Amino acid sequence: MTKKVWWKCNHCGYRFQEEIEKGTPETCPSCGETCTFTDVTCYSPECGGPESGNYDPRL
Ligand SMILES: [Zn+2]
Repeated sequence: MTKKVWWKCNHCGYRFQEEIEKGTPETCPSCGETCTFTDVTCYSPECGGPESGNYDPRL
């Protein structure tokens, strides 16, 4: 099973899931800008933990 990571665009706030090997995309799928992306994957039990496939809503 491929590990996925949640990214959040620092420009428009759009969250999306991508395979971890692919790294961050060149441009944001939502705003189309070349953005910085934050890893917002859930790593704590509050949002289900890393195996849940959830993002962390606090980030
Ligand atoms: Zn964006």
